[in-house]
Amino acid sequence: ESLDKGLEKTKSTFLSKLGKAVVGKSKVDDDVLDSLEEILVSSDVGVDTTLRIIDRIEARVSKDKYVGTGELNRILREEIAGLLSETNFGNEVEYSIPKDKKPYVIMVVGVNGVGKTTTIGKLAYQFKKQGLKVVLGAADTFRAAAIEQLQVWAERVDVPIVKQRMGSDPASVAFDTLSSAVNQNADVVIIDTAGRLHNKVNLMNELTKVKRVMQKVVPDTPHEVLLVLDGSTGQNAFEQAKQFTKATEVTALAVTKLDGTAKGGVVIGISDQFKIPVRYIGVGEGMEDLQVFNKIEFVDSFFS
Ligand code: GDP
Repeated sequence: ESLDKGLEKTKSTFLSKLGKAVVGKSKVDDDVLDSLEEILVSSDVGVDTTLRIIDRIEARVSKDKYVGTGELNRILREEIAGLLSETNFGNEVEYSIPKDKKPYVIMVVGVNGVGKTTTIGKLAYQFKKQGLKVVLGAADTFRAAAIEQLQVWAERVDVPIVKQRMGSDPASVAFDTLSSAVNQNADVVIIDTAGRLHNKVNLMNELTKVKRVMQKVVPDTPHEVLLVLDGSTGQNAFEQAKQFTKATEVTALAVTKLDGTAKGGVVIGISDQFKIPVRYIGVGEGMEDLQVFNKIEFVDSFFS
């Protein structure tokens, strides 16, 4: 239900356009396919992924001759779901962090303004609600505001935070955070990092150093590198995904601000292009407005 709320705009735009495209049609002809292509592109699914979806539908409808509106919806739903299951898209069952890795270390990356701090706060809240002990690390030391904002979230959620002065070495903050988490026997560590894309080599060096230093405390960390993208920026989010995946090994995505945008299709396209699972979606500014992403629910929500 809250998924429907979060994706309301994308869904209503998509469905109303789809309805118009197929009204009075009994066949999936070139007109319908053209409209469908336009609808998917305008939902920010991205051109490449849209074409893959259209190809699948074309291959399928050439077999079936006459197709009613309800039938077309069903085919579309099946083909999008089929495509997504090939792309590592999201979870099919409720996701929870692995229990055999303690502390489970999540390094969060993304450019300023995408909702990184908010996502970390919401995640801390979710984990805490599950009874897990969480420690936050303020390794985005480039901006004083980033440290302060994370502090505000730590207080709101009531979890400990490890921080140093602005301008201090992010790797040193990460080291302190992991050491503190180990001492406290924490279950989850969430480390905020700076995401300055204007210098890719610097970004890469910084993230590599942070990782190397983390591994001195807990081997094989971070367990997750979570890239936060602002879904309402559509194609910009694609571009950021491209830059970050070049700079470091991103293992999961959080796509924020899907409430209030009709560009929700961006999560399909990004997952398809980068083969990185979408783990979470942000659907509001509040503490509760983060959802573990479930691909089946997602596709179903578009067609129900
Ligand atoms: P950061 O610079 O990446 O750390 O971004 P912030 O976490 O400070 O978020 C920037 C703005 O986006 C804030 O006003 C947040 O409240 C807002 N925001 C973050 N996530 C969401 C979301 O899922 N939905 C909406 N509507 N706003 C969000």
